[in-house]
Amino acid sequence: MAAMIERVEIFEYRFVVENLGSDRKHNRVYQKGARSTISNFVVRITASDGAVGEFAPGLGGKLPHLGQVLFVAPVVVGQPADERERIFNDLKKVLRHFGGVGASHIDCALWDLLGKRTGMPVAALLGGYRKRLPAYASAIHADDNGGLHCKEAFVDFAEQCYQHGFRAFKVHGWTDGDAGREVENILHLARHFGSRMTFMLDLGGEILTFADALRIGRACDEAGFFWLEDPFRDNGTSQHAQKKLRQMIRTPILALEHVRGLEPKADWIAAEATDFVRADPEYDLGITGTMKTAHLAEAFGLDCEVHSSGPAHRACMSAMRNSNYYELALVGPSIPTILPPIYADGYSDALDAVGKDGCYPVPEGPGLGVALDWDFIRANRTGYHCFDRKAG
Ligand SMILES: [Mg+2]
Repeated sequence: MAAMIERVEIFEYRFVVENLGSDRKHNRVYQKGARSTISNFVVRITASDGAVGEFAPGLGGKLPHLGQVLFVAPVVVGQPADERERIFNDLKKVLRHFGGVGASHIDCALWDLLGKRTGMPVAALLGGYRKRLPAYASAIHADDNGGLHCKEAFVDFAEQCYQHGFRAFKVHGWTDGDAGREVENILHLARHFGSRMTFMLDLGGEILTFADALRIGRACDEAGFFWLEDPFRDNGTSQHAQKKLRQMIRTPILALEHVRGLEPKADWIAAEATDFVRADPEYDLGITGTMKTAHLAEAFGLDCEVHSSGPAHRACMSAMRNSNYYELALVGPSIPTILPPIYADGYSDALDAVGKDGCYPVPEGPGLGVALDWDFIRANRTGYHCFDRKAG
């Protein structure tokens, strides 16, 4: 008899990151001596046969995510645990006003559950294309606080990443919309590193005009950058604008981090509005949604770049042929990671966990292949929610 979803539990907890502050737009930036308290949560699903699936989001563990997960958790209790595709389609409908984001965490926990029940790694269940993931160091936003505050500081930090083993580095620019210093930084990095390092630029929608985005794009052309990501304040949501930009620069555009849903991403590809396709298992309806997006891109001959880091991200990328880099998010001077320290088995998305080959490994244990540090989570717990079939 099929195992049913008996219980969904959500554990809220907090952790602290040193030397990290934030600006008025929730951008995380370096701030010497600051201590940022970050809230996150873990989803745990128990099946009627006693098997347990868990998922601990990284950057996708914010309060809006928590609200959506709490909204859909009662919907999945009592459903067959193996029917992820049907649950995906149910939650897509339930969360139609919210981009489906909260379905992601449930889906990832269900994949972990499947792996635990079958004794198989999720990476192998998805297809098992590779076991080492080439990575780029994805730096936190540039600042004016003495961290990544000037082009020389970017060179120093990128050199530090190079010494660790990285051969690719992504700049998140300043958050004040100043195109001049972005251009200066792009050209300086290219001059310093030559072909030793591959660079990407992610402006996170901070540049305010198309004209400035174009100016920066042309600097990326001159510097040979690998991609330009979400450059200006359409926030990477205007097909027309990104298509226009594509026509005017040579650097490939990476969009779709801020576009939710498989069908809208398909429309972007069909409109020739992006070069790279973006997907994130914590935003794009889970591992199921991310793999659908990867296969959509594959069918168009495009590459799918997974946004951010974590065990689910590694499992997805491990099963993609059409993907270039694992995003090691987010790091900076004196900030080895801003992701939660919740693994008891050595799993790490910190800067110094990269291999000398510039790669991160794909966990090989059953499910997502990681063991959560429940002592840490319980010691730092701030809330608890339980949706149980027996409670009705
Ligand atoms: Mg981005």
